[in-house]
Amino acid sequence: MVEIRKPIFVETAVSAVMEHQLKAVSEVISIHACDNRRLSEPIYATNAIPSFDKSPYDGFAIKSSDTNGASKNCPVTFQVVDHIGAGELPTKKLQVNEATRIMTGAKIPEGADCVVMFEICHEFEQDGQPFIRLKREIPEGDNIMKEGSEIQKGDLLVEKGTLINPGIKALLATFGYHHVSVAKKPLVGIISTGTELLEIEEPLQPGKIRNSNAYMIASQVKRAGAEYRYYGQLADKLESSFGKIKSVLDEVDILITTGGVSVGDYDLMPAIYEKLGAEVLFNKVAMRPGSVTTVASMGSKLLFGLSGNPSACYVGFELFARPIIQTSLYNPNPFLKRTKAIMATSFLKANPFTRFVRGYIHFEKGTMVVHSAGMDKSNVVSSLAHTTCLMVLPGGEQRV
Ligand code: AMP
Ligand code: MG
Repeated sequence: MVEIRKPIFVETAVSAVMEHQLKAVSEVISIHACDNRRLSEPIYATNAIPSFDKSPYDGFAIKSSDTNGASKNCPVTFQVVDHIGAGELPTKKLQVNEATRIMTGAKIPEGADCVVMFEICHEFEQDGQPFIRLKREIPEGDNIMKEGSEIQKGDLLVEKGTLINPGIKALLATFGYHHVSVAKKPLVGIISTGTELLEIEEPLQPGKIRNSNAYMIASQVKRAGAEYRYYGQLADKLESSFGKIKSVLDEVDILITTGGVSVGDYDLMPAIYEKLGAEVLFNKVAMRPGSVTTVASMGSKLLFGLSGNPSACYVGFELFARPIIQTSLYNPNPFLKRTKAIMATSFLKANPFTRFVRGYIHFEKGTMVVHSAGMDKSNVVSSLAHTTCLMVLPGGEQRV
């Protein structure tokens, strides 16, 4: 007799998965390996930036009060007594009408309180000594990057859970974090089920298909920030499948299987969950595609039984597996971004279930327009190649 399953709302199903908090673990890695990882600790400034008063330009450091009254007709003259490049330290404290020739990034000498760019100085020599002449008054503090003007020591710069991008990497380096605390990637095991499956290197045979789901899911797992291990494909045989799945569960945090969750004669996953003693959170969701998506838990581990149909498999991962992975990576916003867009074409076939149509977004005259990525059937693989978003069409009798 066919089992009648009661569908639950997508939101309810997502909440059921999210209640099962996967343990977030942190690890310390080299800054060289930290791209696209998530911080497990906030970044604080370990020193002020700049950490000393410095020059933003190449020019001359002087004391502003020495320019009081300076004009075209009444220029002031400074003797250049020191010369420093970035990384060098001033050797002279400036006295009245003395200047230091200073390069971008160098420390402002004592006695100076402003910098004048080369462009407005007239340079000359007298008795073999360098001098400059200035024809205007310079305000105090002009062209000086003050210590701490950008960042104060102890400032919170980036929150825990943030994805490390090139700018964050620059901050890490700025503050001497050569080792970085990041969220450890959960390990996701992948197994495909189906007697019809061929590995990709095998030639096509009558009645068989190549296993595409395993490769697609591996790629989705990586994109979601987790680590994956592919454990191969299983023929639809209960005993051997059960044994393999049981042993793999010892090694992974999450197990994703594809196929075998429906009610066909060879859909063995329900029997395997039972035999494992796993708690099935749900096995029917009011959505298209992927209504047979099943999620079960066993202790701290989660088992995702995704449909074998490629589009359903894809959507099932994005809706249910991705957010919990993101949470274990400390991402405070684990869900896919939601926005409103105009549909480029209408959908004629109404369905009582919420539909997740594979699509892509285009901006047309400044408006966000969403297009279908191709054939909209759960068994379709081709449209996934063009999918950058999912159109969420509410269930109901109406065409959209
Ligand atoms: P199932 O969920 O096992 O009932 O499979 C549903 C459909 O998806 C069947 O037509 C399968 O042949 C197909 N399918 C199952 N597993 C895969 C896979 N790994 N790659 C591509 N198609 C698959
Ligand atoms: Mg199958």
